Amino acid sequence: MASRLSVFDIYKIGVGPSSSHTLGPWRAALDFVDELSRAGSQVQSLGVQLFGSLSKTGIGHGTDVAVLLGLQGYDPVTIPTRNIPEIIARVRSERTLRVNGGDLPFDERHDLVFQPTAHPGHPNTLTFTALLADGRLIKQTYHSLGGGFIEREGAAPGVEIEYPFIYDVSSGEKMIVLSHTTRKTITRLLYENERCIYSSQEIHDRVESLFQVMLNCVYRGCHTEGVLPGGLGVKRRAASLSQKLLAGKSYPDRKSWLAAIRKSPRDFATVNQWISCFALAVNEENAALGRVVTSPTNGASGVIPAVLLYHYLFGNFGEDDLLRFFLSSGQIGALFKQGATISAAVGGCQAEVGVSSAMAAAGLTEVLGGSTRQVLQAAEIAMEHHLGLTCDPIGGLVQVPCIERNAMGAMKAITASNLALAGNATHAVVKFDEVVATMWETAQHMHSKFKETAEGGLAVHVSVALPEC
Ligand code: SF4
Repeated sequence: MASRLSVFDIYKIGVGPSSSHTLGPWRAALDFVDELSRAGSQVQSLGVQLFGSLSKTGIGHGTDVAVLLGLQGYDPVTIPTRNIPEIIARVRSERTLRVNGGDLPFDERHDLVFQPTAHPGHPNTLTFTALLADGRLIKQTYHSLGGGFIEREGAAPGVEIEYPFIYDVSSGEKMIVLSHTTRKTITRLLYENERCIYSSQEIHDRVESLFQVMLNCVYRGCHTEGVLPGGLGVKRRAASLSQKLLAGKSYPDRKSWLAAIRKSPRDFATVNQWISCFALAVNEENAALGRVVTSPTNGASGVIPAVLLYHYLFGNFGEDDLLRFFLSSGQIGALFKQGATISAAVGGCQAEVGVSSAMAAAGLTEVLGGSTRQVLQAAEIAMEHHLGLTCDPIGGLVQVPCIERNAMGAMKAITASNLALAGNATHAVVKFDEVVATMWETAQHMHSKFKETAEGGLAVHVSVALPEC
């Protein structure tokens, strides 16, 4: 069974604040310079055009920064994020870009153009143009599809990688039937599929690496105070909340801090505040261009760590739970990507926080011993109560409502999991595949002002004075 999506395509390690507006354009720029390196002639000049949503909220989402880093070959997985301001400051003061080992003149005022007009290909589109020393003009347009996925315009069909999976898990219904006929859990089915691509050691390493990036992100977010960049004046809250929950005590490292949280009171209010704290920590890091795991997007990257840490620190955490959590939740993200969208520019925030909440609900239900039907029902419930959620970031920044929205998405995921586990899921009125189709229909009818353009909702009704760029 050929498939274009592995669970590990959904989870990507990247840099905030946005997967569609930062990571996608960054990866597109890397792809373009790779093409230039194969062109066999020196690059004389370079230009970039950002269209539609990438233009309208590009400054707030760091699209310009991402493009400048990608064109200079920096890898979003490994770049030390603390170096980013210095790299960008150099480009801006010297008006040069270091592309494939050579310095190029590059003045953002006319070489990086924000075109507010929509591109017919996709709401998130960017075009690179390069003039080579031998006179050739190389031009390539990319669509940023959300979740860090990109598509080269005009790419021949069939050039995408197809994974040779054993099981066809392309819908919820197929997964239920497969689980029943093979008597395998959802994790087992997905694991055997991933084994067609990766060794068991590689799968283990990938899962562990995702978890470590999430843990580090939460830890950094819970130990960094101050005001987020962008001019909105949003104060970071995770650090003070963590301090308050630990009665003002400090711990010298991540390990002792996590151990202290494990010893926290288990009453509802305390656990609830910790879950919010984890989500705030990740999204504050994301807003500050920190390293996060795109799950399925950067704007929604706090939901899954918050729910996973809830289970890791307050639940009965088992040896295989990381694998079970990431495989089952990642598959839900893949089904939404294939059957609807994970791009806010296409479907609003239901496609980001809604999908991440559904993913987290599925992962939690799986590690709590739910059946395949219950896992899917948990995902369905979580999405059902995000349907129609708009994307209206104030000032085009991934801060308000985004940061708190992740805490809400995490709590909805936990409630959805509890509801699914409380029944046997055989009589669920709404099926998982039906909620995917409903989300997609809602996305198609949502007005463009609610799709990551900052032209509607909170973005226009909340008056803020942002500094001039
Ligand atoms: S409102 Fe939602 S979809 Fe829009 S930027 Fe914020 S988190 Fe992303």
